[in-house]
Amino acid sequence: MPELPDVAVYLERTEALFVGQPLERIRLGNPFVLRSVDPPKAEIEGRPLRGVRRIGKRLVWAFDEELFVVIHLMIAGRLRLREAGAPLPKKRGLVAFDFPNGTLLLTEEGSKRRASLHLVRGEAALAEHDPGGREVLGSSLADFSAALRSGNHTLKRSLTDPRTFSGIGNAYSDEILHRARLSPITWTSRLDDDAVARLHGACVSVLTEWTELLRADVGEGFPEKVTAFRPEMAMHGRYREPCPDCGDPVQRIKYADKELNYCATCQTGGKLLADRGLSRLLKKDWPRTLAELEERKRGS
Ligand SMILES: [Zn+2]
Repeated sequence: MPELPDVAVYLERTEALFVGQPLERIRLGNPFVLRSVDPPKAEIEGRPLRGVRRIGKRLVWAFDEELFVVIHLMIAGRLRLREAGAPLPKKRGLVAFDFPNGTLLLTEEGSKRRASLHLVRGEAALAEHDPGGREVLGSSLADFSAALRSGNHTLKRSLTDPRTFSGIGNAYSDEILHRARLSPITWTSRLDDDAVARLHGACVSVLTEWTELLRADVGEGFPEKVTAFRPEMAMHGRYREPCPDCGDPVQRIKYADKELNYCATCQTGGKLLADRGLSRLLKKDWPRTLAELEERKRGS
């Protein structure tokens, strides 16, 4: 799933290429992708794009009279830059946004249709798309700490819960926890102030570094290969590869079709998380969600 660094670079390039240009047409390849009724797309078509912003992992395009286009890429949704008027690819082509100087295609791989488009009227209606999570970049340590300690959850879940923090998903949370030298299944209530400060610093540095890396990759173009698996990552998707800091193999905990990755030496005092009570339970059937994983850990 595209996370904050990916979405930030999508928006920066959209701004550079299209702000000031009219969005001439919105072509729907799949009618179900448009989840709103009012305003109709004809009311936005022809208006110049005035600005872009991000709400969590959602991309927001702003037009005059408080009209907005809200795109949620979910897991497999991607934006692609093509020449003006480019045809929508069959099946995976969901929407084409036609500007005079190029067309942005919203595509989605796979058979599940999760990516969505909303057309929104008014700031109040736009605010309803905000899951409420705090922005980590620009937040003070005190704000970060308050959000983190607002509930008692595992660190992995707190970081990836969009109601707690904004824009962090499975990939960057693995990277952040490794940078902070913290176990993904430590309870937030168990963290001392020092660990919270380390986690805050790791969030800021990981998200900033990755945004800079992706930005440098894209240059004057548009992101083409947006993936959660990159060879530069220290942990995420690196099961059995050597940890770049200590050289020991990266470990994993699987749940449903996901896994979280960590380094036992760097993060858990050498303990293999899946080798204790957790794994006896996990072996019977894998939890489907992080919430379920927490339930099992609580009971073990
Ligand atoms: Zn390590």
